[in-house]
Amino acid sequence: MIVVMNIGATGSQIDRVKEKLTQMGFGIHHSEGVERTILGVIGPKQPGVMESIESMEGVEKVVPILQPFKLASLEFKKEATRVRVGDAEFGGDQLVVIAGPCAVESEEQMMATAKAVKQAGASMLRGGAFKPRTSPYAFQGLEEEGLKILKNVSETVGIPFVTEVVNPNDVELVSQYADMLQIGARNMQNFILLKEVGKSNKPVMLKRGLSATIEEWLMAAEYILSEGNFQVVLCERGIRTYEPSTRNTLDLSAVPIVRRLSHLPVIVDPSHASGKRHLVAPLSRAAVAVGADGLVVEVHPSPENALSDGPQSLNFAGFEELIQTIRPIVEAMGRTL
Ligand code: PEP
Ligand code: MN
Repeated sequence: MIVVMNIGATGSQIDRVKEKLTQMGFGIHHSEGVERTILGVIGPKQPGVMESIESMEGVEKVVPILQPFKLASLEFKKEATRVRVGDAEFGGDQLVVIAGPCAVESEEQMMATAKAVKQAGASMLRGGAFKPRTSPYAFQGLEEEGLKILKNVSETVGIPFVTEVVNPNDVELVSQYADMLQIGARNMQNFILLKEVGKSNKPVMLKRGLSATIEEWLMAAEYILSEGNFQVVLCERGIRTYEPSTRNTLDLSAVPIVRRLSHLPVIVDPSHASGKRHLVAPLSRAAVAVGADGLVVEVHPSPENALSDGPQSLNFAGFEELIQTIRPIVEAMGRTL
């Protein structure tokens, strides 16, 4: 439930409410709005609590949150959350385009890609240094060396980057380099990892699990929020269905559904969703049209030589073309690139 305090409720009134809730065994998330204080109350339902809190001085109303995800719900917070990473802002008017290779392979590869995607209109760079591959025999990433390359390239070119963290013990290390942490689809329910990124002060991109329902995805976000990190961006990247002609099936309806359930920004990854280069542009256009706050697109200087996900990667010309084809839709949606 959420406790909405009166406009002008005093500090001691707020403290008394918090004290009482703490005594009852609830966790509290304190949120200071422009006009009033809102307390998010986390814990199992107990009879009579709402009435008892509502009768306290300084309390305007107590609203039950029916969704199992509390802090992530629109009931808890009505305004869209904006997540800023450098000049990119998710959740506002901007359509944030994140582009780069699946994996960091070399300094030259990242430098060329960063320059090309920035020039074409991307506002963030991507690249995996730790790669959670389906096969243990596939390229696993350059690890810390990859992080160093990302950092150097990002600073030289002037573009912030997101990179995946796969191990709770690496959150601190990756946070030393990255502007945004990525939780991959395979780790969406790695709750220890989610709690760890929840304790960090870095924005987090949370990908939807391969077979996760929207509710499970929002519950994963709740893990991060409940640790105090509200800078979460959801990323729909396709789900497992019976259809074999694409790598996954892009669930476009997830975007407007999430919008009705949560205040968190939601972006789309058409590359992992389809697994096919020729589908990346049409799915990107559809994602923008359905209201996504951004796109994550795999781009490689020479996709045929990529160490991972070459078949779904665009080359530089393909990425430029993609930006041109989404531009009118971005404008029609009242957004800017
Ligand atoms: C990625 O973005 O590099 C990735 C591995 O994607 P996903 O976790 O969505 O499969
Ligand atoms: Mn990939």
